[in-house]
Amino acid sequence: MQRDVPALVDGDAGRLRQILFNLIGNAIKFTAQGEVLVEVASGRAPSPEEALLHFAVHDTGIGIAKEHQESIFHAFIQADGSATRTYGGTGLGLAIASELISMMGGHIDVESAPGEGSTFHFTIIVKRQSRQSVEEEQPLPAPATSQLSVLVASANSVSRRLLGDTLREWLPLVETVNNAQAMLEALRRHPYDVLLLDEQLEGFDAATLATRQAADGGGPPAVVLLLPHDRETDNGDRPFAVAAPLPLPASPADMLAAIHAAADKAGKTAVPPAGPADREAAAGQAGVPQKRRILVAEDDYINRVLITTILEREKWVVTAVENGRLAVDEAETDAYELILMDVQMPEMDGFAAAAAIRAKEKGTGRHIPIVALTAHAMKADRERCLAAGMDDYISKPVEYDALFALLEKFLPKH
Ligand code: ADP
Repeated sequence: MQRDVPALVDGDAGRLRQILFNLIGNAIKFTAQGEVLVEVASGRAPSPEEALLHFAVHDTGIGIAKEHQESIFHAFIQADGSATRTYGGTGLGLAIASELISMMGGHIDVESAPGEGSTFHFTIIVKRQSRQSVEEEQPLPAPATSQLSVLVASANSVSRRLLGDTLREWLPLVETVNNAQAMLEALRRHPYDVLLLDEQLEGFDAATLATRQAADGGGPPAVVLLLPHDRETDNGDRPFAVAAPLPLPASPADMLAAIHAAADKAGKTAVPPAGPADREAAAGQAGVPQKRRILVAEDDYINRVLITTILEREKWVVTAVENGRLAVDEAETDAYELILMDVQMPEMDGFAAAAAIRAKEKGTGRHIPIVALTAHAMKADRERCLAAGMDDYISKPVEYDALFALLEKFLPKH
């Protein structure tokens, strides 16, 4: 996803899902080897209230001959009748996708050559979200404490581009290189904190890296080992130290989690301080009323940053803790107006923490709203949350509007 793509838009998610489902399904179906890649960029919209999104679904599959490229968008026509026997299909998917796309003010076309793969491009027009803070259209800023520098060394151009583009959204310095010599030069130029390494890198010599690590006394860079999905299972036998593995393909959250795990291991903690230190920092903020504080208990780094960022944009003071036990301690200070509580956390989960908070409140007349953060808001989960003394729940990943609807419900005066 490119930087200028708005974070939130208002459109028909069901139709868009159907179109992408069809194009990605075809791309996978007609690709025996290589990659399928989906990209989204922002284009020139017809009006300031709207956004034009440009999607591209690339594959490295069988491709489509020029003479068939127009007709595949019409119902019941398949590029090559013989393909039906091999691949099945109805010949309807693209006709429907093309219809849906024109209903959304867009257009679809294909670039392809037999044997070289295909790229289906389409555009749609959506409404921009009207919330003021979304109009800024900035991607979520990197957390202030994430000052890590990262070097990506991979021979695979798709991995390099995906890792590089994604990480640049979050981290201040990200460089990509495609061979071992360039990697060593880059490491000489800059003391990168973390190295994302694909061992298939041309010219890569494990012993050289091991020697370098030994010379640095195990100092940076911490190595995150990229594990492409098609690579033989890992035998784990290497002369150099691996701080964390990263199986590919990886989501942005996986990438960041691996980088932070590696940096933590190497003693370069980049996770924002959690718990009392945060509270002191918050208390030091001039002009912040005593209440307008939210406690977030969430063990997942990315979710913690995401929720904190959203809330801080709206001038809430947030204390983030990583487990239920810390949440119970914090709640005792009575400094918060609401608690967002992940249900699955190490040490003490959200259910136990909520029950402990409620037990301590008994007889005091206090009742702090506790909202569960659940990965899958199933009925059984909901009932467990309520049984543990929580007041409501919200699904992860947390959406802006859902979160503010909840705050409105529990804290209407703000
Ligand atoms: P179906 O796949 O169900 O037959 P579609 O309308 O989705 O119907 O696709 C129509 C035809 O276009 C396919 O049968 C195939 O011949 C061609 N086609 C679509 N996508 C691809 C692709 N990614 N690579 C190669 N051929 C494709």
